[in-house]
This record gives sequence, structure tokens and C-alpha cells, in this order.
Amino acid sequence: TMSGTAQIGVTGLAVMGRNLARNLARHGYTVAVHNRTGARTEELVEEFGREGDFVPAGTPREFVAALERPRRVIVMVRAGEATDAVIGEFAPLLEPGDIVVDGGNAHFADTRRREEALRERGVHFVGAGVSGGEEGALHGPSIMPGGSDEAYAALGPLLEDIAAKAPDGAPCTAHIGPDGAGHFVKMVHNGIEYADMQLIAEAYDLLRTVAGYGPARVAEVFRAWNTGPLDSYLVEITAEVLAHTDASTGRPFVDVVADAAEQKGTGRWTVQTALDLGVPVSGIAEAVFARSLSGHTGLRRAAAGLPGPHRPPFGERDAARFAERVEQALYASKITSYAQGWNMMRAASAEYGWGIDLGAVAAVWRGGCIIRAAFLDRVRAAYAADPELPTLLADAEFAEETGRAQEAWREVVATAVRHGVPVPGLSAALASYDALRAERLPAALVQAQRDYFGAHTYRRTDRPGSYHTLWGRDR
Ligand code: NAP
Repeated sequence: TMSGTAQIGVTGLAVMGRNLARNLARHGYTVAVHNRTGARTEELVEEFGREGDFVPAGTPREFVAALERPRRVIVMVRAGEATDAVIGEFAPLLEPGDIVVDGGNAHFADTRRREEALRERGVHFVGAGVSGGEEGALHGPSIMPGGSDEAYAALGPLLEDIAAKAPDGAPCTAHIGPDGAGHFVKMVHNGIEYADMQLIAEAYDLLRTVAGYGPARVAEVFRAWNTGPLDSYLVEITAEVLAHTDASTGRPFVDVVADAAEQKGTGRWTVQTALDLGVPVSGIAEAVFARSLSGHTGLRRAAAGLPGPHRPPFGERDAARFAERVEQALYASKITSYAQGWNMMRAASAEYGWGIDLGAVAAVWRGGCIIRAAFLDRVRAAYAADPELPTLLADAEFAEETGRAQEAWREVVATAVRHGVPVPGLSAALASYDALRAERLPAALVQAQRDYFGAHTYRRTDRPGSYHTLWGRDR
């Protein structure tokens, strides 16, 4: 068979695939483009043909023939069955050494299955997490590819060209590890994003309910926070959202939005996977539950009349002091929930033998994705200083910062409780911090209870071995 001239191909030309193809073409690559429904392919070439060198293909066979070898095929279709259908259609047309990239939001277990199946044919399968939505796909996403070293060698330079660039100019992509590693890391990214958003939302709620600030005033506070350690895309857009006025009513925009948060499911995957791995990710779990609770209108209506505290908002001076403490509580909670996400990647890397460079993951998230933040450079540095760091909380700088924030953190959580403001994220983070640093946990009692009713045995603090007490029967 003849070899084509396109350096890379994209199949699946909905918003993500189209923008990725344009991004590649704008970087000087010749891009074969294909879509199940041919009209999308024609539209792309008609609308954006001037941006670069596209080779439209009407059929999978034409598409494959248009590619130089080894072929590099990016699949950007609806995650799930569509991905399997497309792989099934293209696999017979490909040859050993060719590379298939799934840039969709696949579950990492599916990616592991697909990688194994294609490996048997000698075809490299790269499960690549792509973050940053449609804007990112066009202007530079954060890309998390998993797969063989050989595949990355052939693909890396292209991905590095089209990826977002961190403030120091480094591309926001790196070879994450074999098979499902890339999609796993993308999943955890989304979980951390859930936790971050929930923590920010709780801080906002406290500033309104306890400090008594209106949305515009809260926006100012967030704008100020965005110049400090909390500097991040999410804090920045939060300020913009809060400063926004609804055009039709003239009211603060946030006040006309229905308070039931939706989710597409990657946060839930993160928590389900964390449960399987036995890694506590309470911050992410509370964020997923908080969204879920918000949507339970029936439960909320049923509980709406239950009594709560009646406390007026703080006066001006106390409010300002409180706002400073909320900043510290938010920052300490952020460190804690990021630590949980990284603990999860560390555990999965060991479980699956992925050898993930945990600092490189932080580097990849410095640009292009939703959680991009100056903070991630500090996470990168922490793992660069000690690749075996057991948890971020053990890093000297993060430990010092959480330690410095802990009084304010406790004060904020206590105040929230007194005022009846739900802060599941902030309080779960604090509980996690306190549990991890505790010298003794009441788990000793739980273990004794288990031995009592189920003869589950226990270990002792003073000598080795496993013990069972004959409860009630030796008396
Ligand atoms: P999408 O709406 O998820 O999927 C539409 C695309 O899938 C169309 O090209 C469609 O082809 C194709 N498709 C569906 N079923 C197919 C089948 N059985 N055989 C062949 N093609 C099929 O598109 P998207 O929003 O651009 O997202 C693409 C992928 O990127 C998804 O996995 C998504 O989760 C992921 N992603 C999306 C975002 C985002 O912000 N949207 C961000 C990151 C990742 P037709 O035109 O023929 O229907």
C-alpha cells in the first residue's frame, strides 16, 4: 500500500476533534481529517481550510491511506461505545507500528483493555487525557498521554507543539506512563477540579453569609486572593462570575442561577476508583456528594423547615478579619485535597506498575487545564526535591504553610458550624489533616469492636502477632 503525506490524522470532528485538527494544522502539520458523517469533514475544510494543510477523507480507508507511516491517528469521538466502534473499524486497516490515540474522556480501565487488544496486533494505543475544553483544544490543551515509550517517541514532538505552555515556556504534556496511566491522571485532575470548585464555593458562601458581603464585594476579595498563594484560573473566573450582573433582571448573576450543580461523571469515577484502591480522597468525595445533594430537590424541600442558628452577619471589622482567615482555610484545604489526589496517583502507579513521575504531572497541569495555577509549580518542585515524598503534606514548605494556617482554619470551620453554613470540603480537609497528624487514632477502638463481634483479631502496640480476646466468655 502507498503511504500518504499527512503527518497525523484526526477522526471525529465534533467541537474537540475539529479544534485539535485546526491546532495541528496551525502548527504546520498536514492533517488528514475524517468524520463518520461526512458533512462535518466538508464543513471543517470549507470554514478553516485556509488555516493550514488538511486532507479530507470520506472513508476510513481513504483516511488511513492519506497518512504517512507509521500512522498517527487521533480518535476524538464520544467516549464509550463510539470509541470501541471506531477502533473496531480502523484496526483492520492499520499495520504494526501504527499509533492510535484516544483523546476522549475514556475510563482508564477501558483504555487498559483497548491497549491490550491493539498491542496484540502490534498497534500502539495511546489513551490521552485532554483537558481545557474546546478553547484548550484549539489554543493549547494540557495533554496527558499514556502508552508505550515507542509511541510517545513518535507522538511527543507533535503533542509538545500543540499543547499549552506553562509560564516558564515548557509544554503542558509529558509521557505519563503505560496503558491507562494518562486517562487515570486525567480522571484525578477532574476529581481535584471538583474539590477545588467546592472549596471555593464554600469560601464564597462564608463571605456572604458570615461576613455579610454582597457578590460584588466577594468578587473583590477573590480578585485580591488571586494575587497571592491562591492565584489560579478557578479563583480568577470566580471573581468574574461574581462581578457579573444578569442582563435581564439587573440582579447579581449568581443569584439567578438555580442552585443544583450537575456533573458528567469523572468526579464520581475518581471516588469510585479511590474506594477500590483504598485511598481516602474525602475532599473529592465531599465535592461529588455536595453536587449530588444540591440536586436532590425532594430531600431539600423535605428538610427545608428544620431549625438552624440565627446569627447576624459580622460587623465590618470582624468581617474583614474573617475574610483573611477564610483565605488561609481555603489555601490549607486546597493543599490537603491536592495531597489526596496525589496520594491516589501514587497508589495507582504502584498498583499498576506505571512509574508515574508525580512532579511531571503537576508540571503538565500548569497550563491549558481548569486547575492551572502557580501553586502547581510548587507541587512540581516538591516532587522534584523528593520523588518518594509520601504525601504533599510532608513537604517542608507545605507542612509549614498548613501549620501556619491551622488556627485560622479551625476558626473558620468552627464559625461555619456556629452559623449553620455547610462546609463539607473545608471541614473534611481539616479532619483529614488532623487524622493524619494524630499520634493515636480511635481506630484502636474500632479494631477492638471488630474483634468483639466478629473475632476479626487485632494487633498490639507492645508485641508482635495477631490476637483475639474471648469476649465475655473468660469472665
Ligand atoms: P462528542 O459530542 O462527545 O462526540 C461527537 C463525535 O463522536 C462526532 O464526531 C460523532 O460523529 C462521533 N461519533 C459518535 N458515535 C460514533 C460512532 N458510533 N462511530 C463513529 N463516530 C461516532 O464530541 P466532543 O464534545 O467533541 O468530544 C469528543 C471527545 O472528547 C469525547 O470523548 C469527550 O468526552 C472528550 N472531551 C470533550 C471535552 C469538551 O469540552 N467537549 C473536553 C475534553 C474531552 P457524527 O458527527 O457522525 O455524529
